[in-house]
Amino acid sequence: MKASAFAYARATSVENALELLATHGDKAKVLSGGQSLLPAMNLRLIAPGLIVDIGDLAELRGVAVKADVLTIGALTRHADLLKSPEIASHAPLLRDAVAHVAHPAIRNRGTVGGSLAQADPASELPACMLALNATIVVRGPAGERRIAAHEFFTGIYETALMPQELLVAVELPMPAKDSTHFFREFSRRHGDYAIVGLAAQALVRNDRFADLRLGFFAVGDRPLLASSTGELVGVAVTSATLSGACSALDAELDPLEDQQATPAMRRHLAKVLLKRCVSSLLSRPDLCGGASA
Ligand SMILES: Cc1cc2nc3c(=O)[nH]c(=O)nc-3n(C[C@H](O)[C@H](O)[C@H](O)COP(=O)(O)OP(=O)(O)OC[C@H]3O[C@@H](n4cnc5c(N)ncnc54)[C@H](O)[C@@H]3O)c2cc1C
Repeated sequence: MKASAFAYARATSVENALELLATHGDKAKVLSGGQSLLPAMNLRLIAPGLIVDIGDLAELRGVAVKADVLTIGALTRHADLLKSPEIASHAPLLRDAVAHVAHPAIRNRGTVGGSLAQADPASELPACMLALNATIVVRGPAGERRIAAHEFFTGIYETALMPQELLVAVELPMPAKDSTHFFREFSRRHGDYAIVGLAAQALVRNDRFADLRLGFFAVGDRPLLASSTGELVGVAVTSATLSGACSALDAELDPLEDQQATPAMRRHLAKVLLKRCVSSLLSRPDLCGGASA
């Protein structure tokens, strides 16, 4: 199938892109890497009247460290994250996660901004942004807005972005030097969308979590920053504590049914990931023992 007829405009600057979006409102769609937009148009799931191609806006591409903030431009490609020394040093969670996003051909075109604006609940990057306590920077007719990642994702393919706004960057607070991370997902084949996944960022001191941020994905209509971790921070974690955290997590989940898994399977897998994550981050293999782990 081919896309319905549409008009095309190549934005020459961020201001030009914003003017086009302001003029055409929700009839216009931003084109970044096209790895989600173009398949959706070809399947006629959406039929925008105008495509605003921002692919030439070099000012939106790249990774920079300033003071204690790591900024990732919206047009930074998945493949750029894999190669970036700044990402390797300051946000290795992203490097590990991106290796699971689709395949090299898609990672060579798909962008960070596109992935976050798409807000697929099974995507890796939105959950990483929760774990990394990111701020999403958007620009629109009224100027710039900064939105905490945990308020940005509002439903399946839904975000706090308005149709006239452009996602321009993501800002990550620089992690403590001794922070650590965990990333795992269950998928049918490497590169497939996850059945369930977990991106975590943590601080471990004296064998206890001083901080723990758990971003689950494919467990509901949007990525989940689990609050059940409260049970695990600042305490000596035992099997009983971890079981309690698993029960608290279960109460937070609202998994969907699709061709990949039932809600019950997703609940089970999320709890398996929680145990593996805690066991790995604390270097405590004993916590992962038992038949249900
Ligand atoms: C076969 C296949 C497998 C895939 N597997 C995975 C996977 O495992 N995990 C995963 O996370 N993704 C996967 N993807 C999606 C892929 O990662 C996309 O690259 C990503 O979701 C969108 O990035 P993009 O730059 O291509 O965005 P586009 O396709 O250009 O845009 C996506 C949406 O975001 C909007 N948008 C884009 N940029 C902006 C912006 N700066 N401001 C405002 N709105 C914007 C567009 O209007 C559109 O609605 C897969 C895609 C394919 C085709």
